[in-house]
Amino acid sequence: KKFIYLFEEGKSDMKNVLGGKGANLAEMTRIGLPVPPGFTITTEACNEYQNLKGSFPSGLMEDAFAALTVLEQKTGKHFGSKENPLLVSVRSGAAVSMPGMMDTILNLGLNDESVQGLADLTGDERFAYDCYRRFIQMFSDVVLEINHVLFEEVVEKYKRKLSLIFDYEIPAPEMKEIIKEYKAIVLKEKGYEFPQDVRDQLYRAIKAVFDSWNNQRAIVYRRINKIPDDIGTAVNIQCMAFGNMGDDCGTGVAFTRSPSTGEKLLYGEFLINAQGEDVVAGIRTPMPISKLQEELPGVYDQFVDTCVKLEQHYRDMQDIEFTVEKGKLYMLQTRSGKRNTRAAVKIAVDMVNEGLITIDEALMRIDPEQINQLLHRQIDTSVKLEAIAQGLPASPGAACGKVVFDADLAEKMGEAGEKVVLVRNETTPDDIHGIVYAQGVLTSRGGMTSHAAVVARGMGKPCVCGCETIKIDAIANQFAVGNQVVREGDIITVDGATGNVMLGEVSMIEPTLSDEFATLLNWANENKRLAIRANADTPEDARRAREFGAEGIGLCRTEHMFMAQERLPAVQEMILSENLRDREAALGKLLPFQREDFYGILKAMSPFPVCIRLLDPPLHEFLPSHESLALGLVEMKHNHAPASEIFAQEELLKQVHKLAEVNPMLGHRGCRLGLTYPEIYIMQSRAIFEAMVLLKQEGIETLVEIEIPLVMDQAEFLFLKKEIMAEYESIKQEKETELNFTLGTMLELPRACLVADEIAQEAEFFSFGTNDLTQTALGFSRDDAEGKYIPVYLEKKIIKDNPFAVLDRKGVGALMKIAVEKARSTRDDLIMGICGEHGGEPSSIEFCHLLGLDYVSCSPYRIPIARLAAAQAAL
Ligand code: ADP
Ligand code: MG
Ligand code: MG
Repeated sequence: KKFIYLFEEGKSDMKNVLGGKGANLAEMTRIGLPVPPGFTITTEACNEYQNLKGSFPSGLMEDAFAALTVLEQKTGKHFGSKENPLLVSVRSGAAVSMPGMMDTILNLGLNDESVQGLADLTGDERFAYDCYRRFIQMFSDVVLEINHVLFEEVVEKYKRKLSLIFDYEIPAPEMKEIIKEYKAIVLKEKGYEFPQDVRDQLYRAIKAVFDSWNNQRAIVYRRINKIPDDIGTAVNIQCMAFGNMGDDCGTGVAFTRSPSTGEKLLYGEFLINAQGEDVVAGIRTPMPISKLQEELPGVYDQFVDTCVKLEQHYRDMQDIEFTVEKGKLYMLQTRSGKRNTRAAVKIAVDMVNEGLITIDEALMRIDPEQINQLLHRQIDTSVKLEAIAQGLPASPGAACGKVVFDADLAEKMGEAGEKVVLVRNETTPDDIHGIVYAQGVLTSRGGMTSHAAVVARGMGKPCVCGCETIKIDAIANQFAVGNQVVREGDIITVDGATGNVMLGEVSMIEPTLSDEFATLLNWANENKRLAIRANADTPEDARRAREFGAEGIGLCRTEHMFMAQERLPAVQEMILSENLRDREAALGKLLPFQREDFYGILKAMSPFPVCIRLLDPPLHEFLPSHESLALGLVEMKHNHAPASEIFAQEELLKQVHKLAEVNPMLGHRGCRLGLTYPEIYIMQSRAIFEAMVLLKQEGIETLVEIEIPLVMDQAEFLFLKKEIMAEYESIKQEKETELNFTLGTMLELPRACLVADEIAQEAEFFSFGTNDLTQTALGFSRDDAEGKYIPVYLEKKIIKDNPFAVLDRKGVGALMKIAVEKARSTRDDLIMGICGEHGGEPSSIEFCHLLGLDYVSCSPYRIPIARLAAAQAAL
């Protein structure tokens, strides 16, 4: 089995074997970019190692040393040599990027002898011993598991003694002293000398990378990001490029476009005279990449060229790591850059306009769920703001909440429903759980590419970084800005778009959507087949839905109209009526309200179709609860209320009692109400017809679908259809006009799906009510399951997704499929759609597309998501 690939043997599509880092190092080598030579030990070797419970597959080290010989030949250097030592980095890298999760060792191959060789060769003792010091520290931390703080203290001590600010200012003699102390620490902590045998160093480093696959941080990261545990990591062994050899050297990270706005400009940071992780570690404040043009113009030009090549080659925005050694650029890593949604949309649209990608690719590049972030709140800029501090605008959006300094507490409070802002000097992977639960993040240190910034952008959370004017006192749990003190629990607002930090809660506004976003959604419309409708009950909802691109209303619930304060008495009067005459009188009071409702909503949606569902919930939902009535009665008696009032209350209680059901969701609701009290549906139909007449007189077009809920048999439908049509006939006579509408039903019971062919003989449209259909197909109560046993099912992996969120294709989907086939066998032009929560969920939308439905209907805010998901389903 081939466990080792030289960089020139690999390709970018070998990520599974070489890991993301290794595959891209190979690809960059292949296309002729300056990459220090190296090789990759495959993920398969790692898996093998895990299977062998921690021993190397046979021949692995021999092959590794053989590959190392190739590197020696290429560089003319020798591993462990006193004269011209070859130094390498040992880098982990799984198929999916796991930033900061596993550890890298730099400068491996140094020992007491080769360090002198390096010094002689370069004529730079400070540099050589700086490398050695870094190596001992990293190796001790990662491989020997000695706390790195012990080493950092030594460096701090020397810097204090010499009154120096930066590590690189420490002169060679002191550097040597530091190394002595480092080695003493190793001896004291481990009981043996720091390993001097370079082959042993390499062996242990590889082993440590393999082992790091199962360190706590990595496990947690995989769990949060749903990454399988058995894919393993590759190990990359690469010749060092030295960024710490002086002022014409340095190291940097960059994005080829802005990961927060998507703007086409190089975006990143560079540190002169530094190595490896100095940039991200926030030890010194790096300079923006643009300044490189002034500092090292030759390098800057190489760099710009390389970025263009990379984008052309990968056809995507890249996130890169590079090092400059004596004016020469070396590429150390590239990958598709993480970006927030706003940037993702802009980059995708720009790249289409630049001819780099196709419209289809642009549509596929945006995760529909992500679009939610674009609908995030922003700070109202028309209000004058008093910022108490300003940091870097690291991840846009505004967040407001209580100040919390600790990730555990942030998690605890967040979980309890409190809004918190996590405030830290900087964040590490150990803080991720706190960031998950925070509204936003504020750090006092670190740049735009610091951990906090990267993680927050990935999650779409507002983040302000490097806000150096705030001084955090972790012991007193407070921070100070000037002489102002902000304590734990105080409320602040952070604006990740400007970097502003404000005291208290600041007013926010809904975001305006960018031109690129509109372009992308237009492209989605051109490519999708499904129509997107909205679930909307009011004219305002309808208008908002249209702004987001709704092409009709798929579900207008009439019960919400019954709940309004001024209508409830008439509704209750209707319910409590003893006879038809009283009930019709009460309904007569409701008629004008309903007419007004329908008039408004039909007008707002004209000329698009509006599907109006007749009354659905059980009647007791409109009455006070049994408990509150009984309590009221006790109180009335206690206060000696008039007998007539007590009598009325008792009557009400009796009625509530009579209406109470053991299983209301399977109870007297939907068309069963219509069958018991046809006058309710008749009144609603009349209100719809009268509204249509009014609109017709105004010349406003309407397309109305009247929907009868919870039908399970053709006979139910037919009975109600006759009643409604009779009412239409009388309207026709009265108003001397004809109206255009269709009559259909919601399919939300398994039986209805199974006899859909029969129902379709009478119905002109179907809409799948998948909330109830899921409830009745699985026998899972909608109201209780999600709180009680669905989490258990998910945890025990009995189901993959919550069936109320993601449509259960196998079961509920099969019922839908039967219904579609049966319905179309009766009437092939029958309009069919979906109106459950699933109508706004991307994978369910895909299923609806595959089923051949005509539309999906979802809440107004999810319409952009649905448009994109529908387009992706069609591509
Ligand atoms: P991570 O996945 O945490 O970014 P990397 O393996 O990319 O870890 O390396 C950590 C740091 O070390 C990066 O800044 C990288 O650029 C630097 N580095 C890795 N290998 C080399 C090398 N051969 N020469 C110089 N710097 C290197
Ligand atoms: Mg890296
Ligand atoms: Mg229903």
